[in-house]
Amino acid sequence: MPASVLRGNGVVPGIGVGPVVRPMPRPVVPADEPSIDPEDGARRFGDAANAVADRLAERAGRATGAAAEVLLATSALARDRGLAALVQKRLADGSGICASTAGAIEELNDLFSAAGGVMAERVTDLADIRDRVVAELTGQPEPGLPTPEVPSVLCADDLAPADTAGLDPVSIVAIATSLGGPTSHTTIIARQLGIPCVVGAEGLDDVAVGTSVLVDGLSGEVVIDPDADMARERTEAAAHAREAAASWRGPGATSDGHAVDILANVQDGVGARKAAETKVQGVGLFRTELCFLDRDVEPTVEEQAEIYREVFSAMGERKVVIRTLDAGSDKPLGFATIKDEPNPALGVRGMRLGLRDEGLMDRQLDAIALAAQDSAGPVWVMAPMVATEGEAEWFGARVRARGLVPGVMIEVPSAALLADRILRHVDFVSIGTNDLSQYAFAADRMAASLAHLTDPWQPALLALIQRVAQAGIDAGKPVGVCGEAAADPHLGCVLVGLGVSSLSAAASAAPLVGATLASQGLDACQAAASAALDAKDPATAREAAAAFLA
Ligand code: PEP
Ligand code: MG
Repeated sequence: MPASVLRGNGVVPGIGVGPVVRPMPRPVVPADEPSIDPEDGARRFGDAANAVADRLAERAGRATGAAAEVLLATSALARDRGLAALVQKRLADGSGICASTAGAIEELNDLFSAAGGVMAERVTDLADIRDRVVAELTGQPEPGLPTPEVPSVLCADDLAPADTAGLDPVSIVAIATSLGGPTSHTTIIARQLGIPCVVGAEGLDDVAVGTSVLVDGLSGEVVIDPDADMARERTEAAAHAREAAASWRGPGATSDGHAVDILANVQDGVGARKAAETKVQGVGLFRTELCFLDRDVEPTVEEQAEIYREVFSAMGERKVVIRTLDAGSDKPLGFATIKDEPNPALGVRGMRLGLRDEGLMDRQLDAIALAAQDSAGPVWVMAPMVATEGEAEWFGARVRARGLVPGVMIEVPSAALLADRILRHVDFVSIGTNDLSQYAFAADRMAASLAHLTDPWQPALLALIQRVAQAGIDAGKPVGVCGEAAADPHLGCVLVGLGVSSLSAAASAAPLVGATLASQGLDACQAAASAALDAKDPATAREAAAAFLA
């Protein structure tokens, strides 16, 4: 019987084959729980907490870097005597064992949140411990992302940034989601981790846990029960593309020597150190908001500076383009975003939060300036979601006052249309194609059913990019692309043909973009660009461009 194939958007190239695993739902705390003998309850809580702590410690032993540190710290917290004492107090008051656990964690939560800083960051770990202990006590499956024994394919409807950031690429060899588009944050983080990923695969929800699947992150296919020979062939072809990427030595240029900076998108020091191992020429987008997703309290200037310094120091003498907080919409920050906006994607997000609360912007710029004092390389600073010339002027002046190089992102069509005027106030612009397509096409970037509109090969998006690139050429100022469009090797060549001067993609994708560009002449890129611009839709644009590209 031929294997059945589901189709979605291939967003992180590569092949992953393995059994399906899925995130476990949070366990239910039983209602009307009977009270229990306090001594017996304390012993049962201790056993459950120790079992959870042991499992977390064991996982830490198999993980590396930040993931291992987080797991170890959570394991230690599960054994915390203070937590056990709070549970005992509740048991003695007559509460049931799960209610005592949940109540004790809630009390610790309040204490940690009030303490702020590093303590407040542990609140997510506490919730994780509560869920794991309650699951252990009640015999429910362990919640959260699975940590499978064999390399597996993670399937879900969609994944939150906080979930995907902790994924271990050794045990999760591919990701497939039924929701999400090519610019959703699942995509961005999967790309950062280099995990092959397909999003928006309809029918995926019906694939049972344990079923063998092949995920092709280039074609967007999810093959159910794949034939072993076919799986091997496709895995080998993906390996060849990886070799081309690995042999790229930089710096970025076309085969006839037209220079184009190839840069990396990062979200923290760990990512920057990984990027620094490649030949990228710097960081083209440091998404600072992703450092603070779990904070309810604004980090101090010193705390922020410490985090930014890590990225600057990882890149040494290479340039870093750091973006001020892009909070809001699908990246809410407890200390910054407005709650309950009716339409957050069109609300007070990105730089608009800084316009509303100038202190928030000023403290972040102070932190960047402080960290930049210790940087060996150039630090450029840009703001997200700028819509008008006046906003660019406001931001440019604030950045210059701190002796830094200002730029803005072009993510809103109004800014693309008047990029020439915006460039009067700043030294560079960087096109965020993820949001620019969402706003140009009035299509939610998270909506799988609208992914054909947010496809970065849409000719109308390319026309907007061409306009911005031309404004940069006229002003003699750099125009980069840092949205996911820059991670597609052929589209990268088209963007260069349209006149952009740098391409910034996840470190796992950037070398293949550099290698592909190095095998094309500038003429071919320009011919591919004009063919794509003239196409009627993304599919024909891809095909028309490919005819000119090697
Ligand atoms: C973009 O919109 O293209 C972009 C780079 O910003 P983000 O994806 O973080 O919204
Ligand atoms: Mg954006």
